[in-house]
Amino acid sequence: MADESRLPSDAFVFFGASGDLAYKKIFPALQALSRRGRLDVPVVGVAKSGWSRDQLLERCRASLAEHGGGIDEPAFARLAPHLKYVDGDYNDAATFASVRAELGPAAHPTHYLAIPPSMFPVVASQLGRAGLTAGARVVVEKPFGRDLASARFLNRTLHEFFPEENVFRIDHFLGKEAVQNILYFRFANAFLEPIFDRRYVEDVQITMAESFGVAGRGTFYEEAGVIRDVIQNHLFQVVSYLAMEAPSGMHAEAIRDEQAKVLRTIRPLDAGSLVRGQFRGYRDEPGVAPGSLVPTYAALRLQVSSWRWDGVPFHVRAGKCLATTATEVFIKLRNPPPVVFSEPFPPLANYLRFRLSPEVVIALGARVKRPGEGMAGRPVELSVVEHPAQGIDGRMGDYERLLGDAMGGDATLFAREDAVEAAWAIVDPVLEASDSLHEYEPGSWGPAQAEQLVADVGGWKSPEADAA
Ligand code: NDP
Repeated sequence: MADESRLPSDAFVFFGASGDLAYKKIFPALQALSRRGRLDVPVVGVAKSGWSRDQLLERCRASLAEHGGGIDEPAFARLAPHLKYVDGDYNDAATFASVRAELGPAAHPTHYLAIPPSMFPVVASQLGRAGLTAGARVVVEKPFGRDLASARFLNRTLHEFFPEENVFRIDHFLGKEAVQNILYFRFANAFLEPIFDRRYVEDVQITMAESFGVAGRGTFYEEAGVIRDVIQNHLFQVVSYLAMEAPSGMHAEAIRDEQAKVLRTIRPLDAGSLVRGQFRGYRDEPGVAPGSLVPTYAALRLQVSSWRWDGVPFHVRAGKCLATTATEVFIKLRNPPPVVFSEPFPPLANYLRFRLSPEVVIALGARVKRPGEGMAGRPVELSVVEHPAQGIDGRMGDYERLLGDAMGGDATLFAREDAVEAAWAIVDPVLEASDSLHEYEPGSWGPAQAEQLVADVGGWKSPEADAA
């Protein structure tokens, strides 16, 4: 008998068809999958907007024009006949009876919950009651809970209807080519692994900077704040790829075991390892409380208590309204002993840099001799990879990759239950802290107090603006 967990899905249902995420990401991903001939199954959009199927198609075309790189007519012509629409409220069992009818003989649908998180349990249980969970997969959008207790509750609720192997928690960072390349570059190069530990690495920094604010999503942001929005999920996934041990292979559980293991070695944060900030003007944004204490910036110092990393700080920071928009990993190597050359070594001689966005770069910082007499050097950067963001030039976009993987039953790039809970456990003690919130100027690198976290490693290494 075939292993059902590996059968490709024979239908795709997306709840939240009229929403923002569907408009920005899902329709473009569907067109891209169709272009590659990977979507020859019924695709059912569900919302309560009172739409007809024609209106769904209109919305799809508008989305592709605005976010999908334009309408690819042959791909759209392949996709359109598969698109169906069900209108109805998620609290109403009749909505799910209609979904069932639209699915016809499909026995292994993928249900994508692109809906407000408060509706995740509602839709999961309605799917269960409608008999739509057996042999099905569920893709759950972020945020997965808002703290450790709620994440555990959500895991328990989902598991009432779907076994863990059929739960796909989206973290679109894992779908990024640049993030996968961290894993590849680490374990595909013999020169790197022997020095990738506490003996040679002095400091690891991960910065996710956005030069824009909350962009009209103040109400959403008030519920989230920067730690829930991007640190507990996206940046901790990056930490896990950087800090994990070599997986025993490329299968999903081998990688996810190592991610979960290393996240469990990170000590829960205390107030002294965290600086929180809020950009000046945040409280004037629509939907934001006048006295809001929600952080739009946070800098953390993590201790990875593993044999490999003991004593090496992992500094993570993210913020809105910062000096530039870029996400970068900067790994500072220890200086060689200053016994050969008389020149003083600069604070930063050797490093490894992974630029994750907007462009993709892997670079090694080294020193070479300056031409001429004497033994004096200058810094150079050896660029190993350099290309624009994905989704361009035919490269696979992150949502295309993730939806295709979920439908194929490949969970490698999805967060597993234990890893999600381990990540929440790290930030849980500081989530509700409301003291010491520092205001910072828009366009700066955040509050000056964050410098204290990195005083012993020579300060923050801020990503430079996109050269493109
Ligand atoms: P929206 O508020 O734009 O859309 C929500 C969707 O859910 C709409 O289609 C809405 O239908 C539907 N909906 C809500 N309640 C009901 C109900 N009771 N019955 C039927 N339909 C209902 O949200 P987003 O698209 O922005 O976000 C969806 C999910 O994706 C969230 O979990 C969010 O955190 C996540 N996400 C969003 C991102 C984004 O950029 N937007 C980025 C990353 C994650 P209707 O319009 O008909 O009321």
